[in-house]
Amino acid sequence: MKILMIGAHQDDNEFRCGGLAHRLTKMGHEVRLVSCCNGSGGHHIMTPEETTKKRAEESAAVAKLLGIRYDVWENEDCTLVADLETRRKMIRYIRAFSPDLVISHRPNDYHPDHRAVAQLVQDAAYMLTVPHECPDVPAMRRMPVIMYNVDRFKNPEFRADVVLDMDDEIETKLRIAHLNECQVYEWLPYTHEYETPPEGDEERFEWLKGMNITADTTDEEVMAAGRGYAVRYAKVAARFRKELIEQYGEERGKKIRYAEAFEVCPYGGPYKGAVKELMESARG
Ligand SMILES: [Zn+2]
Repeated sequence: MKILMIGAHQDDNEFRCGGLAHRLTKMGHEVRLVSCCNGSGGHHIMTPEETTKKRAEESAAVAKLLGIRYDVWENEDCTLVADLETRRKMIRYIRAFSPDLVISHRPNDYHPDHRAVAQLVQDAAYMLTVPHECPDVPAMRRMPVIMYNVDRFKNPEFRADVVLDMDDEIETKLRIAHLNECQVYEWLPYTHEYETPPEGDEERFEWLKGMNITADTTDEEVMAAGRGYAVRYAKVAARFRKELIEQYGEERGKKIRYAEAFEVCPYGGPYKGAVKELMESARG
């Protein structure tokens, strides 16, 4: 099956559903990532041109790690708008790949680029099947299922329709973060005012985790922890513990340390049949 993960920025998909991308690719499905912005704004020292080049290199390294194709559109960061021209670009882009499943942002999000991508995907959804809209690219016969990546925003709160055990993908998820070098070790510590990361590849990789999470670490400890990528992915499991228990059963659901979570978007195709089976097969 074909899965398209559409993010505003390079790290959006990678960090939220990189584990699923890796798992589905290993199962023989075709996963593609696209970032609608080029990363130009994500640094405080490098120029936008330098940052764009560096981010492209980092995304290429992630694509190689995951074994997927990774597209980056040319829009500068913080300039994406859900206008008609960009909607048509999105319609053509999705049609050309013709995915069974699209994963993207929710429209209620703090970042204007995230909101624009969410709007573009929703606006494209039905139009994908309308032949006289963008007639130069053949219309799809069926809308893909659309799912939202997890976020922390409220009004309304994210609903975890599908939560996936990512314990066997945590190493890959941390490697993905590590490859986003100028973000996790430079830009994000600057913009979120974290402490300066250590020098040295191995020291940095340890720092990246934020906390050593073991089988004995409680959900309360995870939720109270600060920065870090092991922490971030453990927080998804801790936050959706009830759903993990519902979806995996009491014994396994209680033990899962790391997770990715998805909400079904009401504007895509119905979540049933082959795509539902796909997500069930990706339970790990
Ligand atoms: Zn983003």
